[in-house]
Amino acid sequence: MSAAPPVVIIGGGWAGLAAALELAAHDIPVTLHEAAPQLGGRARNAPFGDLTVDNGQHLLIGAYRETLRLLALMGTAEAEVLHRTRLCLKVLEGDETLLMQAPPLPAPLHLAWAQLTARGLSLGERRAALTMSLRLMLSGFTLARDISVSELLQQHHQGERISRRLWAPLCLATLNTPPERASAQLFLRVLQESFAHRRHDADLLIPKVSLGELFAQRAADFLQRRGATVAVRQRAEALHLDGERLEAVSVAGQRLRARHLILATAPRAASRLLAGHPPLLALQRQINDLGSQPITTLYLQYPPGHRLEEPMVGMSNTLSQWLFERHLCGQPGLIAVVISAEGEQDGWDHERLTRRVVAELARQFPHWPPPLSSRVIRERHATFECGVGVEARRPANATPVRGLWLAGDYTATGLPATLEGAVRSGVQCARQIIKHY
Ligand SMILES: Cc1cc2nc3c(=O)[nH]c(=O)nc-3n(C[C@H](O)[C@H](O)[C@H](O)COP(=O)(O)OP(=O)(O)OC[C@H]3O[C@@H](n4cnc5c(N)ncnc54)[C@H](O)[C@@H]3O)c2cc1C
Repeated sequence: MSAAPPVVIIGGGWAGLAAALELAAHDIPVTLHEAAPQLGGRARNAPFGDLTVDNGQHLLIGAYRETLRLLALMGTAEAEVLHRTRLCLKVLEGDETLLMQAPPLPAPLHLAWAQLTARGLSLGERRAALTMSLRLMLSGFTLARDISVSELLQQHHQGERISRRLWAPLCLATLNTPPERASAQLFLRVLQESFAHRRHDADLLIPKVSLGELFAQRAADFLQRRGATVAVRQRAEALHLDGERLEAVSVAGQRLRARHLILATAPRAASRLLAGHPPLLALQRQINDLGSQPITTLYLQYPPGHRLEEPMVGMSNTLSQWLFERHLCGQPGLIAVVISAEGEQDGWDHERLTRRVVAELARQFPHWPPPLSSRVIRERHATFECGVGVEARRPANATPVRGLWLAGDYTATGLPATLEGAVRSGVQCARQIIKHY
């Protein structure tokens, strides 16, 4: 490590850690301060009885190239931590099943084949889905102006049934925003990232270890080996500017001078730190305007031996949206039920929510016994709202204040709020600092 002043990073989520890894890999000294007792931010470990689960079930895909690159940089073999399968979307609605599987064909033929051969859709629905995909591909997945996902589906003649069973679950899973409000432009970017380049981009990558073990702990070990400082329980309280230049930051009662500081917190925490500084007020307003959406996860422990046929199964026309099989994490009988975006359930207490979800699963899997135990985890500000026109509102890494940078899933990455978005933002931010360092 050189003797130059360290880059200060505030926030030890995946964006802050990715920025730190990129800087450390270039021998740039780093100190990272995390307010919470553990690293990982919105992708962190949580307890459930004797088990370690996640604060919400996460899914990665083959297109998460920067995340996979950083795992390799830290010396982690993908198969050690992630279970990779070819795209298989199974969505249950009572007795009916929609099943779409990608064959081992080159992109985009794998998508065309998956749509043409999908089970549970009529010939007309399959033809409409394929025609829409071809048209979107020919347009380069761009729109003249942003519209909602619902409008996009109407324009491409997707009927009510295929929208409800296929497109709405995909929209909620990827944008965490209801289709009536979600940005079609951002949805198209997800489709492009997943289907337009390499066949393996659409693969599903399901964590085999807790999220903390998957990334944060490995990143902290790598950073410490490289001489970086990583400190938890260290809350940044205030930024200190000299005109339009960053001077220092107060962390846990200490004033630290900083030539480059990356604010890698979630948008609400970033907004609080930007407040009161005239050169940053417009940026603060821009961040506040992004809004947010919740994600609720229910962990249901069934007796070991009760499991789903696939690692991940969707449900439509129910409150429960996606079910994940946790035996891959060595937790047999444990099912994670994910409910994305806002809804009536946000006003319910845990007991009512659990009763409803347990009843839905009992209807869908009548041979299963009642669960032995459960835990509800609500993340009220899980992601920024991927609403129509959001791309124009997302801030860049650079700010109007020299030396102050932003990183996080909400910055202008072109991706929705995802682990990969956070990682790309951190890496992109670090690369800009490396140029100025
Ligand atoms: C329930 C849930 C399910 C999700 N599912 C998926 C999924 O399946 N796939 C996917 O790709 N993405 C998913 N996401 C999104 C993904 O988790 C986020 O996009 C990503 O973790 C955001 O990382 P980040 O580093 O930008 O922000 P954060 O993770 O929010 O990190 C910011 C960090 O800053 C810290 N901090 C805040 N204020 C201060 C301060 N003043 N001083 C010091 N530190 C501070 C926080 O404690 C936090 O650790 C999900 C998110 C949630 C909540």
